[in-house]
Amino acid sequence: MIVDLANIEGSSHPFKFSVPADDLDLGIENIRFKTAASASGEITKHIIQTDISGIISAEAEIDCTRCLLPIEKNLAIDFDVSYVAEDEFAEESNAELEAGDLNTDVLNGDRLDLKEVVREQILLNLPTQVFCREDCKGLCQKCGVNRNLIDCKCEEKEADPRWSALRNIK
Ligand SMILES: [Zn+2]
Ligand SMILES: [Zn+2]
Repeated sequence: MIVDLANIEGSSHPFKFSVPADDLDLGIENIRFKTAASASGEITKHIIQTDISGIISAEAEIDCTRCLLPIEKNLAIDFDVSYVAEDEFAEESNAELEAGDLNTDVLNGDRLDLKEVVREQILLNLPTQVFCREDCKGLCQKCGVNRNLIDCKCEEKEADPRWSALRNIK
């Protein structure tokens, strides 16, 4: 959804749209979207900057960081970003700009692709680690089984000194 900021009447402009799961294409393997991402919010035009705030929601399936079991997650992301035209960004004297504002992005021209904003915000706000349960044992480093389901005893064999003692008897 492309918004032409030059055509926005008044200072505030509400938006509501959804991005189909197939279009989200985050380039991340361990997450799959089960629904479209719906986004709603408001674009507010100021003299120098344009603020976009809103909420994005989607249902996704994210693999457990330890054992790779898919877990259903409802994503609800509140976001607040500002865009400033390129030439304004260069001028440090602008009172509206706060130095070091990480949420401020440079806008090229008057066109803003809200779909890209949504994609970017989802990427920025994805949980870095997801666990199927707090004490997930993960996959065995030796034999690869899911240690929540199978007690493969690999670790025990490693740790038990009696085994190495037995191995030494030939
Ligand atoms: Zn797990
Ligand atoms: Zn094992």
